[in-house]
Amino acid sequence: MEKRTIAILGATGSIGTQALDIVSRYPDRFDAVCLTAHASSEKLFELVRRFRPRCAALNVEPAALPEDVRFCEWFFGPDATVRALLASKAQDALCAIVGIAGLDAVWAALDVCQRVLLANKEALVTGGDLVMRKAAGKGIPLLPVDSEHSAIFQCLQARQGNPVKRLLLTASGGALRTWEKAAMYDATVRDVLKHPTWCMGGKITVDCASMVNKGLEIIEAHHLFDMPAEQIDVVIHPQSVIHSMIEFEDGAVLAQMGMPDMRGPIGYAMGWPERLPYDAKPVNFYELGHLDFAAPDYDRFPALKMAIEALKVGGSMPVILNGANEAAVGAFLREQIPFGRIPEIIGHALEHVPVTAITSIPDVYAADAAARADAENTIRRLAC
Ligand code: NDP
Ligand code: MG
Repeated sequence: MEKRTIAILGATGSIGTQALDIVSRYPDRFDAVCLTAHASSEKLFELVRRFRPRCAALNVEPAALPEDVRFCEWFFGPDATVRALLASKAQDALCAIVGIAGLDAVWAALDVCQRVLLANKEALVTGGDLVMRKAAGKGIPLLPVDSEHSAIFQCLQARQGNPVKRLLLTASGGALRTWEKAAMYDATVRDVLKHPTWCMGGKITVDCASMVNKGLEIIEAHHLFDMPAEQIDVVIHPQSVIHSMIEFEDGAVLAQMGMPDMRGPIGYAMGWPERLPYDAKPVNFYELGHLDFAAPDYDRFPALKMAIEALKVGGSMPVILNGANEAAVGAFLREQIPFGRIPEIIGHALEHVPVTAITSIPDVYAADAAARADAENTIRRLAC
C-alpha cells in the first residue's frame, strides 16, 4: 500500500487520538496532513507539533498561536474544519467529530476525498439518505469505523452475492445495564460515564447508558447496509467481544470478534482492504470461559424503541430524535436534568415537532433546529 495522506477531523477526541496512534505506528503508510478540533487548543497544538500537518483548524480561535505551530496553515471559526480539509488536499478523511456538528465535514469530504472513514454516526443518522446517495454517486467508499458496523462490513466480505436476512448489532448495555429502573432515573454523570468495556468521549458514553447509541447505530446500519429496521436486531452482549453479526437465509450466522479496542475498527478502515497489525490483545477463549447474550429491555431503555420507531417513520424523524438527544445529553452533562429525563425530552420532541421530508442538507438543519428548540423548552420547563 502506498503512503496515504489523511485528514483527522476531531483529532483531539477519543477516536481521533487513537487514529493518530495508528498513524504514529505506520509513518511510512500515513501522513496526517490535516488535524482539527473544536476548542481544545493546547491539545491540538501538541498534536500539531508531533504530526506536523499541512493544515489545522479550531472552531474557537485561541488567544495566541505558539511560535512552534505556525509552520502549518491555520483556520479558525465555525467553518474552519471544512476550510482546512479542502486546503490540505488529503486523500482520505477520518470523520470523528461528535454530533451533527460533523455533518458538514462528511459532506465536504465526499466532495474532495478518495475515501471517507466514518466514525461520526450522527452524520448518517441525520443526513443518511443524502450522504449515501452522494457517496454512491461519486463511487467513494464510506468505510465504517463504529465497531458494530465495521464488524458487519467485515462479515459482509463473505457474502458472495447471497442475501442477508438479518443484521445483529451487539450492545454492551452501557454503564446502567444491571440497574433497576427507579435507580436509573437519578444516575449521576459519574455513574453514567463509567462504561464497562469501552473508553470513549462523553456524549457517546451517555448515549450507551441510555441505549440511544444503539438506536443511532440501527439507523446508521440501515443507511450503510441498506437494510430496513425490521431486519436489524439488537443483542445485549456485556463482554463486547462479538462486535456484531450477520445472518444468512440458511440460518448461518457470521460474527466478527476481538477484544474491545477501537484501534481495531479504526485501523481496519485506515488500512482497508489491508489489515494493519498492532499490539491488539488476542481473544483468549479459555480466559473468557463464556459469552453472554440477552434481549434488550425496552422498558428500562425506552429511547432505543423510540429510535427504531423514528427510523420506521422516516423523513425528518431520525433528525428530530438526534437533535433532541444532543440537547438532552448536553443538559444532563451540565447537571441541569436527571438522567431519567433524557428519554422524556426525546419523546416530547418526537411527538410535537412536525415531521418533514429531507431532500437537502438545509432540510436536515431545519429539522435539527426545530428539535433542539423543542428539547430546550422541555429542559427549561423541567428546570423551573
Ligand atoms: P470526543 O468527544 O472524544 O471527540 C470529539 C472530537 O470532535 C474532538 O476532537 C472535538 O474537539 C471535536 N468537536 C466537538 N465538537 C465539534 C464541533 N462543533 N465542530 C468541530 N469539531 C468538534 O468524541 P468521540 O471520539 O468519542 O466520538 C467521535 C464520533 O465517533 C462520535 O460521533 C461517536 O459517536 C463516534 N464513535 C466513537 C467511538 C469511541 O470509541 N469513542 C466508538 C464508535 C463511534 P474538542 O476536543 O476541541 O472538543
Ligand atoms: Mg458502536
